[in-house]
Amino acid sequence: MADSSRRRTVQRLRPFESTIFAEMTELAIAHNAVNLGQGFPDSDGPASMLAAAQQAIADGFNQYPPGRGMPVLRNAIAADRARRYGTEYDPDTQVLVTVGASEAISAAVLGLVEPGEEIILIEPYFDLYAAAVALAGAVRRTATLVPDGDGFALDVDSLRRAITAKTAMLIINSPHNPTGSLLSREELTAVADLAIEHDLIVLTDEVYEHLTFDGREHISISTLPGMYERTVVVSSASKTFSVTGWKTGWACAPAPLIDGIRAAKQWMTFVAGGPFQPAVAHAIEHEQAWIAGLRDDLQKRNALLSTALSEIGFDVRRSEGTYYVCADIAPLYDGDAMSFCRAIPERLGVAAVPVSVFTDHPADWDRLVRFTFCKRDETLHAAIDRLRRIHEAAAEFPDFRHG
Ligand SMILES: *Cc1c(COP(=O)(O)O)cnc(C)c1O
Repeated sequence: MADSSRRRTVQRLRPFESTIFAEMTELAIAHNAVNLGQGFPDSDGPASMLAAAQQAIADGFNQYPPGRGMPVLRNAIAADRARRYGTEYDPDTQVLVTVGASEAISAAVLGLVEPGEEIILIEPYFDLYAAAVALAGAVRRTATLVPDGDGFALDVDSLRRAITAKTAMLIINSPHNPTGSLLSREELTAVADLAIEHDLIVLTDEVYEHLTFDGREHISISTLPGMYERTVVVSSASKTFSVTGWKTGWACAPAPLIDGIRAAKQWMTFVAGGPFQPAVAHAIEHEQAWIAGLRDDLQKRNALLSTALSEIGFDVRRSEGTYYVCADIAPLYDGDAMSFCRAIPERLGVAAVPVSVFTDHPADWDRLVRFTFCKRDETLHAAIDRLRRIHEAAAEFPDFRHG
């Protein structure tokens, strides 16, 4: 008998055996579609950073770096947080280099939350968070964003209702994947008040901290009164420097929190990729202008894609940052976003992701589709030309809305 006749994956990870990105990327490849599903750039990071990584390999930085990360990178991260946010982290005890933001998040959950304790996620949420909660044997609870004009706002009451005596941690993400929204100072203050009242650890995923549009400011909850001591800040080179394959991220937090994260991290991967660390340190110190250029480019690409989607007939939500814009398919299509996303690689030659996969309440989010605009202009133009054909291709769409 084939081994496939027996399920071996542990119960708590069964819901996480596959990811939507794999499914949509497979469809994109099968139909030669432009992939606006998965958020990875199709252009490179700053040349001096790429050269620095090559140089580090040539210079022999090819063995295990220190467990907390190379001092040159921890120093650069701490100096950068101090300069941009005014928060001081001791590079020796309060900064930990990880295998991407992903590992920082999983290790924080594993190292700081007991099995059976509760973690609150805000829907829609980046899918990794739910898997990290499951890995740790913790219990997932959700609060929610709600529509607010052409954007989104935090439903603070839903957060208050989600807190119980067992809540240990709250995970927030701003700028936000998948919606592209930012949490305002008022929203962050409401979160902070609840976190302080209930003595919660707040993990803030700030991987898009630099990527905000039209002069909007990213505010780190770690800077609010009473929050520094209970906040784990997570960020990464992946999105800031267009190197999602380098998997170089970090956590900044007071030492007792870093100690917990490190206790988990060192038994998973021990250390993070050696030669990338001096290269990312170099980029943090010398490539701030490159980041500003990336931000401007993404702002323009967001405008390009958002405008085109509106012209085509989607009900487009305002993206204030990140790599993503969400659009409501209701004016064009009677089916749900999942069926739409499964149909369009073949019918239109474009791939996207339904927002419903980022929630525990898919029925409440079944009309929104997430598109990424972190692609070269020619890629975006190709996708837009294909999406415009939706009206001609209407006959092939059983759920296409006519008239
Ligand atoms: C891409 C992404 C991550 C993962 O970052 P890595 O550094 O590549 O592990 C984490 N959180 C969010 C919201 C992301 O979009």
